Amino acid sequence: MARIAVVTGGSRGIGEAISLALQKAGATVVANYAGNDEKARAFTERTGIAARKWDVGDHQACIDNCAAIAAEFGPIDIVVNNAGITRDGTLARMSYDDWHDVMRVNLGGCFNMAKACFPGMVERGWGRIVNIGSINGQAGQYGQVNYAAAKSGIHGFTKALAQEGAKKGVTVNAIAPGYIDTDMVAAVPAPVLEKIVAKIPVGRLGQAEEIARGVAFLCSENAGFVTGSTMSINGGQHMY
Ligand code: NAP
Repeated sequence: MARIAVVTGGSRGIGEAISLALQKAGATVVANYAGNDEKARAFTERTGIAARKWDVGDHQACIDNCAAIAAEFGPIDIVVNNAGITRDGTLARMSYDDWHDVMRVNLGGCFNMAKACFPGMVERGWGRIVNIGSINGQAGQYGQVNYAAAKSGIHGFTKALAQEGAKKGVTVNAIAPGYIDTDMVAAVPAPVLEKIVAKIPVGRLGQAEEIARGVAFLCSENAGFVTGSTMSINGGQHMY
């Protein structure tokens, strides 16, 4: 029977590529999104993948929507916590709301989705959670104390939850993408982006599919011995 996978922020950007890669691997995929109905509708028409709108920063919305998805499609075996936002600015210019929104969605979303899906995975003895972190959570980034803290938190969250799932057949891993050619990066001013690309040893931005292939591997049967790890997919920009 096909695994049931939920990809948050799965209707565009890296999330769309992840949804497609999991579909190609044989999973029944449901893509979550926040508010861009037009993109979500076009995504469903193009791919046949169902899209469901809710805010992953809303704890009860995650619980309720995951229960509804389980009732409609079957128990959720795979969760990819990909939804993420930026509210960049130096500390001096960053408001409390900028801090809080990013923590709430990027890190809080991982907690909320795990609360909704991890217990069922443990009960059934199989599960995969993949959290999308960032190179900027590993290395830090000027003007991103909120985003870097949330993404860095994801890496700690991953290692801690992996220990709870390890004996129960549930793996929890993270992927830390470098700079990937999506709407999020298109929002970076061109002169800044040029400087960023100049620092990537591979000499280009990454493609969303390059992240998606890593996620598909971590979600596969073959990856049962991989847990608590962070896979860096960044063109060699940050090595450690
Ligand atoms: P993107 O193009 O901006 O797409 C973000 C997706 O997340 C959209 O589907 C959006 O839904 C959804 N989303 C945003 N807030 C949400 C919320 N509160 N609840 C539910 N869904 C929400 O982003 P991306 O560039 O593909 O990035 C995807 C992930 O990779 C993020 O976690 C990001 O931090 C991480 N990342 C990206 C890069 C990069 O270079 N692009 C690098 C490192 C890490 P709507 O369509 O409805 O707005």
